[in-house]
Amino acid sequence: MERIAIRNARVLTLHGVGVRRGTAMRELGVIERGFVACGKGRVARVGAGEPEGSWDRVIDADGCVCMPALVDAHAHLCWGGDRWAEWERIRTGVPYPQILADGGGILSTVRATRAASREQLAEGVTRRLRAMAALGVGATDAKSGYGLEPESEARMLRAIGDAAAASPVLVRRTFLGGHAIPPEDAGWPERLALEVIPTFAREFPDVAVDAFCERSALGVDACRAILRAARAAGLAARLHTDQFTAMGGAEMAIAEGARTVDHLEAATPETVRAVGGSDAIAVILPCSGYALDGRYAPARALVDAGAAVAIGSNANPGSAPTVDLRFAMHLAVRHAGLGCAEAIVAATVNAAHAIGAEDEVGMLAPGMRANLVVLDDRDERSLVHAFGGPPPRLVMLGGRVLQG
Ligand SMILES: [Zn+2]
Repeated sequence: MERIAIRNARVLTLHGVGVRRGTAMRELGVIERGFVACGKGRVARVGAGEPEGSWDRVIDADGCVCMPALVDAHAHLCWGGDRWAEWERIRTGVPYPQILADGGGILSTVRATRAASREQLAEGVTRRLRAMAALGVGATDAKSGYGLEPESEARMLRAIGDAAAASPVLVRRTFLGGHAIPPEDAGWPERLALEVIPTFAREFPDVAVDAFCERSALGVDACRAILRAARAAGLAARLHTDQFTAMGGAEMAIAEGARTVDHLEAATPETVRAVGGSDAIAVILPCSGYALDGRYAPARALVDAGAAVAIGSNANPGSAPTVDLRFAMHLAVRHAGLGCAEAIVAATVNAAHAIGAEDEVGMLAPGMRANLVVLDDRDERSLVHAFGGPPPRLVMLGGRVLQG
């Protein structure tokens, strides 16, 4: 593998200890004129001035920012079928309950996912990972959750593993068995906690466990049992909560030691305070607000309350049909009150903590995976300011240059 040095860049190292909260969410670790040297797929050295030593390739990044590749804290990525016709019907004014009555919504994706082979599912994940990489995303969450029965959920996790093994993007899998209750199996949440999670923990010991706490999905008690089963099996716990309804899900997840609480569009001031005083990372998903209803998580209040905030694309076929994490960052600044530096921290180092990959990605420091981007601008605010904008000038993942 080539030994590559990038010189003459405005380097953002994001270097520091632990997940960032409060004013630490504005610290980018700037080296005004510096270098990043990489070998064997890892960052070898970062510093000011020139990279001494011999390199197979030296890239002059004069007038450009060099920073860690982005990390997507929350993405679904694996599904069968599509929801394009449904979306067009919604746009013409068909009410959502009618869509559901006609077999649409998440259950249409469940049907298509159950019918898809492992190879077909992996092919879809591969395509989405490729699109993410081109946009400068070097690590991501990837959830199951459209199978809602053990065989299909396991097939999704295996397909994600297949795609991840062949991708330069670092993938962390999440078992989202508690995404919804399938109409044919009201006992599914209970079975998840009692049987499925302990069994899956043996085949998929790397996964986090997630559920959707919402009036239209699983209740607080069902989610508590799932999170407890995850923790008992030694797995990290996450929770989709407070998206439409404040039901106490975030407080419950914090009490159960969840690593993240995700969504939070409907979080009350009391919930914001509870999250701010906890170790749980608040993962905001502004693409859902953009695609659905114009509601965004109170990210400013969360940071001010001391929360560690991360950003995810929430890539999925229905409520966030995009893998563009940069657009999510833009929305987080435009509509949720984050500053540009906070959005960058939220989509790099804090997102790395959210997916449990903080030892691999999210900052530029010796030993970290050589995942970085070079922007076409001298100021990193361009990354957050522009939407639908040009891809980075250069994306390097695992020490290999994808473009540039
Ligand atoms: Zn989600």
